[in-house]
Amino acid sequence: MKLVDYIEKISLNIIKNKDYLTELDREIGDSDHGINLARGCEKILEELPNIKSLPTSEIFNKIAFCLISNVGGASGALYGTAFMKASIFLKDKGNISPTIIADTWKVMIEGIIERGKSGIGEKTMLDTLIPAYEEFNKNISNGDELSDAFSKCLNKGKEGMENSKNIIATKGRASYLGERSIGHLDPGSMSSYIILETINELLKG
Ligand code: ADP
Ligand code: MG
Repeated sequence: MKLVDYIEKISLNIIKNKDYLTELDREIGDSDHGINLARGCEKILEELPNIKSLPTSEIFNKIAFCLISNVGGASGALYGTAFMKASIFLKDKGNISPTIIADTWKVMIEGIIERGKSGIGEKTMLDTLIPAYEEFNKNISNGDELSDAFSKCLNKGKEGMENSKNIIATKGRASYLGERSIGHLDPGSMSSYIILETINELLKG
């Protein structure tokens, strides 16, 4: 399974969940998260045949470009920045080892943090991504195989995503609602969870 196969399946799953993600954003945002991401994912699917033979770093760069120029909304800039950071990080890397995968995930998160001026516990995509990454990195450091390390970390991402319901949004549009954002799942933490779930399915084979 190649990087572009992962990207294809993730894009298809995001498109499949377009209405659900938009519905979550209707509750605490402006009803466009699924629409935004699906627009970017359609463009990615269109581009994949043209970019599939490029080096890994270049593929990340092209995806970043697709996201930044087609998604719109905060999520386009944030996911786009993550892919851009990955592209830069991977430029001088040779074989993609599990450690490099963990380090790439880290720089992607750092990109979102930097761009969003956000952190864990603010009811954003980071509530899924950070706990999952931390568990993944720990498992890889302990010598777990890639697919084991990933399947164990998915639960942490799920817990974080589900917990987004219980906290007050302090970043993004949902923050305008203050305490009224409690009781609703964060759309971005759900889209991030869908991405992780898809990767896990593919790694299980
Ligand atoms: P917009 O809010 O501009 O309409 P989307 O609806 O596509 O953009 O995306 C909203 C999601 O983006 C939120 O659910 C949240 O997870 C994420 N988000 C918004 N602002 C930030 C931020 N500063 N840091 C991290 N994630 C953010
Ligand atoms: Mg929105």
